[in-house]
Amino acid sequence: MADCELCGVARPTLCPVKVNDPRVKLAYPTGTWRGINEECLEICLEANLNRVPSNAKKCDLCSIKNVPLFQVKIQVPIFQEPYHREVNKALCESCFEACKDTKKRRVAEKEEVHHH
Ligand SMILES: [Zn+2]
Ligand SMILES: [Zn+2]
Repeated sequence: MADCELCGVARPTLCPVKVNDPRVKLAYPTGTWRGINEECLEICLEANLNRVPSNAKKCDLCSIKNVPLFQVKIQVPIFQEPYHREVNKALCESCFEACKDTKKRRVAEKEEVHHH
């Protein structure tokens, strides 16, 4: 089990998103992986299409600062009605691109399975 970086929900498998975390750039110059679940991936992809500027201080996936950030409304499950609450997160442009790559890889993987 691993926890989603955005909503904190534990899943057996997460969607790996490759981000450029400025704090570990020296150790990982080509980027590091963050795991988010499928629901959050879809929310991020949607937020990318309908970009709403965020006044957050840093990106919630890669922690980059001083770049334009955009709002992502993550649904965090809770145990009472209405069973989720909305949490505002912020993502940077490069993380949106990383989410798109993750989605592309997943679609390709599914097609692969289909053909065999
Ligand atoms: Zn999540
Ligand atoms: Zn980012």
